Amino acid sequence: MEIERHEYDVVVIGAGGAGLRAAIEARQQGKRTAIICKSLFGKAHTVMAEGGAAAAMGNVNSDDNWMVHFRDTMRGGKFLNNWRMAELHAKEAPDRVWELEAWGALFDRTKDGKISQRNFGGHEYPRLAHVGDRTGLEMIRTLQQRVVALQQEDERRHGDAEAYIKVFAECTVTRLLKDGDAISGAFGYWRENGRFVLFDAPAVVLATGGIGKSYVVTSNSWEYTGDGHALALLAGAKLINMEFIQFHPTGMVWPPSVRGILVTESVRGDGGVLKNSEGRRFMFDYIPEVFKDKYATTEEEADRWYTDQAGNRRPPELLPRDEVARAINSEVKAGRGSPQGGVFLDVSSRLPAAEITRRLPSMHHQFKELADVDITKEPMQVGPTCHYIMGGVEVDADTGAASVPGLFAAGEVSGGMHGSNRLGGNSLSDLLVFGRRAGAGAAAYVDGLRARPKVADDAVEAARAEALAPLERSGENPYVVHQELQRTMNELVGIIRRSEEITEALEAVGKLKERAEHVGATGSRIYNPGWHLSLDLRNMLLVSECVAKAALLREESRGGHTRDDFPGMSPEWRRRLLSCALGPDGSVTVEEEVQPSMRGDLIRLFERDELKKYMTDEELADFDALVK
Ligand code: FAD
Repeated sequence: MEIERHEYDVVVIGAGGAGLRAAIEARQQGKRTAIICKSLFGKAHTVMAEGGAAAAMGNVNSDDNWMVHFRDTMRGGKFLNNWRMAELHAKEAPDRVWELEAWGALFDRTKDGKISQRNFGGHEYPRLAHVGDRTGLEMIRTLQQRVVALQQEDERRHGDAEAYIKVFAECTVTRLLKDGDAISGAFGYWRENGRFVLFDAPAVVLATGGIGKSYVVTSNSWEYTGDGHALALLAGAKLINMEFIQFHPTGMVWPPSVRGILVTESVRGDGGVLKNSEGRRFMFDYIPEVFKDKYATTEEEADRWYTDQAGNRRPPELLPRDEVARAINSEVKAGRGSPQGGVFLDVSSRLPAAEITRRLPSMHHQFKELADVDITKEPMQVGPTCHYIMGGVEVDADTGAASVPGLFAAGEVSGGMHGSNRLGGNSLSDLLVFGRRAGAGAAAYVDGLRARPKVADDAVEAARAEALAPLERSGENPYVVHQELQRTMNELVGIIRRSEEITEALEAVGKLKERAEHVGATGSRIYNPGWHLSLDLRNMLLVSECVAKAALLREESRGGHTRDDFPGMSPEWRRRLLSCALGPDGSVTVEEEVQPSMRGDLIRLFERDELKKYMTDEELADFDALVK
């Protein structure tokens, strides 16, 4: 059977913010670059981002700078972050946002014409550059426009717009190919007609986003099946921090068909408050010890903060997401939830109606259309939803390189930057900073190659046979296996975890893995969603196995990993990173790695009093010796 074949220098899998920024960089460095995406071009997850991109530009509060942003990011991640990534991110995010503006992005402005910045949980100053609550859409529009501008340049120079950068949309990659240890290409199929396609390329950048579709209640869309995570594992790379999953505190809880859809944190950033069924602003009861001095303890102080940030502490509704999600979970469990099983998020009593529709147009539209709720007149009902995975491909901070030569990763599919919990707004800036770095890393790798790795025929044949298998058997319905996986992960490895339940989940995932090997899809290869899901199942199961195995081993609670049976945060565990790899029998193995100590100039940015909440006595002694 003939397989369509293309040759590139760099193949970028994913056309969200990370993928587009990586591809632009690789093309700018003169590399022939392909962008592959399984959804329509322009319909990546990044489009859904609402709140904004965090960058310490200091436009609204001139006290802001990269050091404050770095500190906030490390605190948000409970000091488990790859500190080099957090440093690069905080330093480079402003340039990446200004670059977007130069490429045509129309951000909201301050009165004096600068890019406006809004408040968000865990950020000390207003920091999120935004376009109403449609920032991701503007980011993707601008990056796509930049791709088109480069193509127009290529048309003028080479007479072919797609000579150096070409988009392959609605094309799913199912395998990475290798020559010995090194990447040699990628194999996939066209979703529309099921025909196979081979990309021969020495460098692949994974930018495939997250894993939310392994859970029932999620803010993520259909393409978030953990493909890049699984492709990396199958190619021999490692995934770190997979136990850390962010449950966003505010997803819609009703009606059932839209459960999990995101209610942006901007609602709280712009003044919205959380209340229980008794009408109490309960977040004041949930300020953890490590944040006690930074958050208001009375409603009066919290309300004053919106107009006077220098003289007051932040409202506890703006605590990092893991804290707010756990608090909502506790209120609902204690019987103080809303009628549909969430809590109330009220902006209607806090801002004039016109202001709400101006600042939060998408939220107004979303609730009116989907739940028949007018948020200018009544509160929303919200509850936690699986939103973001902090874990992902272990990469070199500076280049995005994974441990497999020729493999790079950026954006949500990569791990380390956000530690155990991501701050809102830090993903969009992460995509730009590390997308650019991964594109540059891939281009430099190609430049340094002495010989181009070859695609082996037998590897292509194996990938083809694997992809065809579900169509050639009349096995179990893939949708049934998927639903059971989603339920298992939601109920047993969700927001609050305990040993017996995770063990039960692992047994269930093991059995589902066996069943997934026998699922069958009826019909042909022409646009066949049952077949596509059969192939995606391998990825969701592998990723779920990583999440559950790492969650079982980490015997502490930190950020997006809460163990009921180990409720405290342990200084000993802080530097221990769990790294997942694929064993020879196809099951996931987990090893411990030690996080390198933070560089002296960076650790000096913190007070000892704060560090002692996170660090061991030994680490504190090192700190004391450093500052002496
Ligand atoms: P994506 O934008 O998801 O792109 C992934 C790409 O990979 C897609 O093109 C997809 O088709 C492709 N792909 C996946 N698998 C394959 C495959 N096998 N073959 C080929 N292509 C594949 N973050 C913020 O910082 N600020 C916010 O305000 C914010 N708001 C959010 C609101 C919502 C509703 C959600 C869900 C998330 C939000 N986030 C926000 C998080 C942020 O949007 C995401 O983390 C980020 O957009 C991920 O970008 P990415 O480039 O890594 O991946």
